Amino acid sequence: METKQRWNQAVCGILTLNSKSEILSLNQSLLALLGYEKEEELRGREFELLLGTSAQFYYYSILYPKIQMEGLCQEIYLSLRKKDGQTVPVMFNAKRFYLEDEAVIDCIILPMETRQEYLKEIKTINKKLETALEEKILLHEELLKKQEELEEMYRTLQVVSRQDPLTGILNRRAFMEEIHLTLQSAQMKPLMLSACIMDLDFFKAVNDQHGHHKGDVVLCSFSEHLTSFFGDTHVVARFGGEEFILLLKSLSKEEAIIQMEAFRSAMAGRTYGGLKITASFGVSTRTEGEDADKLIVKADVALYEAKRRGRDCVVHFLDMKQNQ
Ligand code: GH3
Ligand code: MG
Ligand code: MG
Repeated sequence: METKQRWNQAVCGILTLNSKSEILSLNQSLLALLGYEKEEELRGREFELLLGTSAQFYYYSILYPKIQMEGLCQEIYLSLRKKDGQTVPVMFNAKRFYLEDEAVIDCIILPMETRQEYLKEIKTINKKLETALEEKILLHEELLKKQEELEEMYRTLQVVSRQDPLTGILNRRAFMEEIHLTLQSAQMKPLMLSACIMDLDFFKAVNDQHGHHKGDVVLCSFSEHLTSFFGDTHVVARFGGEEFILLLKSLSKEEAIIQMEAFRSAMAGRTYGGLKITASFGVSTRTEGEDADKLIVKADVALYEAKRRGRDCVVHFLDMKQNQ
C-alpha cells in the first residue's frame, strides 16, 4: 500500500496547515469525520472554519502562539465543526516543521469517541485484573487455611498413630520408636538400659467371669497405675492384649528388679476396677552392643519363665539357670 493511501486511511485525522493557519492538506479519515467528501472543499480554507466558536478563541489566543513559540502542542481537547454544523470532540496534537524555509504545521486529530472507547476498554481490563487479584488473594488465603488444617490433621494423626486407643498410653509401634531413639542418642556412650514385659495373670478368666467391658476397665486402671509409678522417668507402653512393656532408663539389673518388685507389691495392695489382679514380669538388662530386639526377646524369655514358675513374680533373664 502506498504511503499516501495509508496516510488517507490512518485511524486518526491528519491535517497540514501553513504558517497562516490555512489548510494545505488533510487525509480521508479527517474528511470523513467532518462530513466532507473531497479534500478540495477545504484546501486553502482557514483552519478556523473547522473550529467551534470557543475552540476558535482557544486556538488563536493560546494554541497558535504556543505552536509558533514552542513548535509543539500535545493532547489538547477541542471541538471541531462538521460540515453540517454539528460539533465533534477531538484530541489535537500539532508540530511545526520547516519545508524549504516555509513553516508548516502537521496536526494529528483523534476523535474522542475512539479515545473514550480505549479508555473504557482499559477500565474494563483493569477491573478484570482487580477481580482476578482479589480472587487470587482469596484463593491464597484458602490455601493457607487448608495447609494449616492439613498440618493440624497430620499432628493429630501422629499422636493417634502412637497411642493405644483403649488406655491412651503409647502403643507397641511408638515404644519401638522410643527404644530405637534412646539407643541412637546414646550411640557412643555406655548406656545402662533395662526392659520389662509384664503380662496380667489369668486375664481370660477376668473377661469370662466379669465380661469384656470389665476387662477393659481393668486394663485402663492397670495402665494408669503403671504410668503413675514409672511414667515420669521411664517409657510405658501397651505391648498388645494384656501385655505391657517398660523401658527402664539408666537402671542396672539389680535396680530394675527392685523397681519391679516394688511395683508388684503395690499391685498387691490395691484393686483394678474393683478386682484383685496379679501380673508376671520378665526383666532384661542390656549388655554392650545389644540392640532393641535382643533386649526385648530376653525380657520375653524371662516372662515365659515367670509364668512357668507360677506367675505373680519377677524374673530377670540373667537369673535363669541356662543364662548364667
Ligand atoms: P496367662 O496368665 O497365661 O497370661 O493367662 P491369660 O488368661 O492372661 O492369657 P491368655 O493369653 O489365655 O488370655 C489373654 C486374654 O486377654 C484373652 C483376651 O481376650 C484378653 N484380652 C486381650 N486384649 C484385651 C482387651 O483389649 N480387652 C479385654 N477385655 N480383654 C483382652
Ligand atoms: Mg498374654
Ligand atoms: Mg495373661
